Amino acid sequence: MEDSGYIGDPDRISVLDGVAEALQSLAAAGYERVVITNQSGVARGLYRDCDVERVHAELQARLRARGADVEAFYYCSHLEGCDCRKPDVGLVRRAVLDRDLSLADCVVFGDRESDMRLAERLRIPGVLVNASARYAGPEPALRASRLDEGVRRFLAGDRA
Ligand SMILES: [Zn+2]
Repeated sequence: MEDSGYIGDPDRISVLDGVAEALQSLAAAGYERVVITNQSGVARGLYRDCDVERVHAELQARLRARGADVEAFYYCSHLEGCDCRKPDVGLVRRAVLDRDLSLADCVVFGDRESDMRLAERLRIPGVLVNASARYAGPEPALRASRLDEGVRRFLAGDRA
């Protein structure tokens, strides 16, 4: 989604161009698509868990309208002191267990340093997409301007 800061309102979300196509490509290649997100706005009292769930439901509806979807959403609602806030690996471990995934076959697509640090901690590839010019995190396996480009190149075996 477009990054508009703390998102607690389904009417304010905007799905970036190419995202639905990227998710379709991942599905066709046999990948499950799982969203892992930090939502500390809950701990800050800016919005509630039900708002996060409404945003996720709206995102899913918009993706389905374009023939794509994600299979699960996991979010951290804390500020600190948990093991699930990215780059901590708690949510990925939970998803891998819940969904009987093979961690070694997973890949992280993300736009933030916390996403690439997450990939680093898990020792799996990180694909940096839509990064800001100020990005100063670990060197990703691959860098792309958009998710669809990142997915296409990742699936083609392109790596740094
Ligand atoms: Zn947490």
